[in-house]
Amino acid sequence: MRVFKFGGASVKNAEAVENVGRIITRFAANQKLVVVVSAMGKTTNALEQVLHDFRDGKSHVESLAVVEAFHNAILDELFPNNGVLARKEVAALFTALKSELQTEPGEYGYDYDRIVSYGEMLSTRIIHHWLKEYGGHRSVWHDTRNLVITNHHHRRATVNWEETKKRITAEVESMGVHMVQGFIGSDGEGNTTTLGREGSDYTAAVFAHCLDADDVTIWKDVPGILNGDPRVFDNTVQLESISYREAIELAYFGASVIHPKTIQPVQDKGIPLYVRSFMDLDLEPTVIEKGLSLSPEVACFIRKTNQALITVASPDLAFIVENHLSKIYEVFHRHGVTVNMMQNSAISTSFCVNQDLQILPKAIKELSNVFDVRFNKGVTLFTIRHHSPGVIDALQQGKKVLLEQITRETYQMAVG
Ligand code: ASP
Ligand code: MG
Repeated sequence: MRVFKFGGASVKNAEAVENVGRIITRFAANQKLVVVVSAMGKTTNALEQVLHDFRDGKSHVESLAVVEAFHNAILDELFPNNGVLARKEVAALFTALKSELQTEPGEYGYDYDRIVSYGEMLSTRIIHHWLKEYGGHRSVWHDTRNLVITNHHHRRATVNWEETKKRITAEVESMGVHMVQGFIGSDGEGNTTTLGREGSDYTAAVFAHCLDADDVTIWKDVPGILNGDPRVFDNTVQLESISYREAIELAYFGASVIHPKTIQPVQDKGIPLYVRSFMDLDLEPTVIEKGLSLSPEVACFIRKTNQALITVASPDLAFIVENHLSKIYEVFHRHGVTVNMMQNSAISTSFCVNQDLQILPKAIKELSNVFDVRFNKGVTLFTIRHHSPGVIDALQQGKKVLLEQITRETYQMAVG
C-alpha cells in the first residue's frame, strides 16, 4: 500500500483538484492508497482570520464569506450539473462552522483547532466526491479525528501511537482510496487537535508508519527538494537523494519542503519518502531513504524568517550556569517556544527563537521576573549545511550579523 499527500497548493482551484483527482485515479488501481489532503490553497490562513475576528469580538461575517465563496466557486466548476451530495456536505460543514462561531471564545488553542480544522474537512469532502463522480475508484472518506489520537496539546499535539495504530489498522482496510484529512486529530475525548502548521506531511508519515506502507509521496509544485529555496537563493540544484538523518537536519533548520516531524515515523520502518511534482509526472522526484547523506554533495541553504533573538543575563552579573539554563529551558518548554540556535557567554546566553506572538511575550515576561532579558525582533536565521568558506563569505555579504555559530557540518547566522 502507498500513501500520497497533497498540500494546499495542489488543490488551490478546480483545475488543480482535477489534476490531483487524475493522479489519484491513475495510481489507485489494485492498490490500497491512503490520500492525505490539506486545506485548499490559503484556506488555513483565511480560517485563522475568521478565528481572530471571532476572538477579537469583531464580525466574522466577511472573513467567513470569503472562505465559503472560495469553496462554492470550486464546487461550481467541478460539478457544473451534478455534485448534489458534495454541495450538501459542504453546506453542512459551513452550517456547523457557523454554529461553532456562535459559542463563547475559549482557550486560544482550543478555539484554533475546532475552527481552523474545517479547511481539511472541506477539501477532503470535495475531492472524495470528485473521485466518486469521475475517478471510477472506490473512495472511502474518513474523519481523521477518529483515527489520529493525540494528547491535549492544542496546535502542537503529540500522537498517541498505540491508540492511533489500533484505529488506523482497523479502519483503513479495504483496497481502493482512503481519503483522510492532514493536520488534524483529536484528543480521544471529542476535542479536535492539530499537529502544527504544515502538519499534513506528518499525518502522511503517521499513516505510512501504522500501515507499513511501501512508500510515501509528497506531491508538490516543485520537481523535488532543492538545495535552497529558489525564491531566496540563486543557482539552486535539485537533490536526487537525501538520507533520513540529513532530511531531519534540513527540516529542523527550517527547510520548508517537509514538516520536521515527518521523517522519524518513516525512518523507523525504512519507508522511502518521495517528493514529486504534481505538475509534471515525468520529472525525477527526490527520494529520502537510507543511504548516502546527500546526492549530489552540495551546500544546502536555509532561511528562517520571523525570528527573535533573546539575550538572558543574570541581573547581578553572576555566571549563567546549569541551573539558570535549566530554568530558562523549562520556561521555553512550558510555553512552547522553539529554540533554533543558542550561544553562551559568562553572564548571558542568547537564543534565536520563533517569534510567535501568542506565546513569546508570555515566556519573556516570566523570564523577566528572574533575569535581565533583552530581545531583537524581526531577525532572520540563515543556516548552511555542508558549508565551505566561499559560500559563508558570499552569504554574509552586506548583512548585519548578530550571532553566528559554526560546526563541522553546519553554519548558522542570525541577521538583524
Ligand atoms: N492546512 C494546514 C496548514 O496550512 C496543514 C498543512 O497544509 O499541512 O498549515
Ligand atoms: Mg498547507
